[in-house]
Amino acid sequence: MDIDFTENEIQRYARHILLAEVGGVGQAKLRAARVLVVGAGGLGCPLVLYLAAAGVGTIGIVDDDRVSLSNLQRQIAHATADIGAPKVVSAANAALAINPAVVVHPYDMRLSPENVDALLSGYDIVCDGTDNFAARYLLADACYLAGKILISAAVLRFEAQLSTFRPGGPCYRCLYPEAPPAGLVPSCSEAGVLGAVTGVAGTLQATEVLKEIIGIGTGLSGRLLLWDALEMSFRNVGFGRDPACALCGAHPRITDLSAHGY
Ligand SMILES: [Zn+2]
Repeated sequence: MDIDFTENEIQRYARHILLAEVGGVGQAKLRAARVLVVGAGGLGCPLVLYLAAAGVGTIGIVDDDRVSLSNLQRQIAHATADIGAPKVVSAANAALAINPAVVVHPYDMRLSPENVDALLSGYDIVCDGTDNFAARYLLADACYLAGKILISAAVLRFEAQLSTFRPGGPCYRCLYPEAPPAGLVPSCSEAGVLGAVTGVAGTLQATEVLKEIIGIGTGLSGRLLLWDALEMSFRNVGFGRDPACALCGAHPRITDLSAHGY
C-alpha cells in the first residue's frame, strides 16, 4: 500500500494522523478504500460528506431520485438551488467541494436485482441508506452472497437503528428474517422523522465505515444499536447467527437473487 502523502494531504488529514489508532497507515487505508453508499437521502448525505472529508479514496453513490423541497429538512448534502437535480449529482458535488482529491462515482439509477451485483463488484464496503424494505433486503442478500461488509442504518420519527453485517457473522436475515407485510411499518414520508436524527444515524454509520476500513475498535457485527432521541438513550442488543436463516443458515433457501422472487 502506498503510504506516501503530499504536504497538502498531511495538512488536510493532520487530526487523523495524530491519532495513534489511525496514523499514516490508517489514512493510507482510507485513501485506498472503496465504499458504496446506497441512497443519497437523510442517511446517505452525512455519510457521503464524512467519507469524503475523511479521505475515503473512492465513493460510489446510488440513487435515482431528484432533490425536492421536502428533502432539505434533513438531506444536508443538497441545497435549495439543487431542487430538481439528480440527488447523486448534488451529493457528489457537495462531497467534491469538501475534498476534490477523492473520486466520486454517481449512479443515477434505482438499485435492482439486475444491477446490484455490478454495482457491488467495485466496492469493499457497502452502506444501506435506503428507505424501503425491498431495497434493504435486496442489498442485504446481495452483500451476503458477494461477501461484502454491509453497514446498515434505519431511522423513523425520533429513533434510529444501526448494525454491521460482516462475512462469517450473523446476516441481516438472522436479525430480520423477512420484510414485514406492506403497510405494517410506516415510512418516514408517512410518519415523519426529526432531521437531526437522520444526521446522527448517518454519521454513526460513517464512523463504523471508517473503523472497519482502518481496523480499529469494536464493530457492530452481532450487535444492534438502538437510539431513542427523545429519551436520548442508546441500547445495544446482541444477536447471533440463526441456524435456520434463509440466507446463511444450514439449509439456505436463498442462494442467488433469482431464487427469492426478485
Ligand atoms: Zn443469516
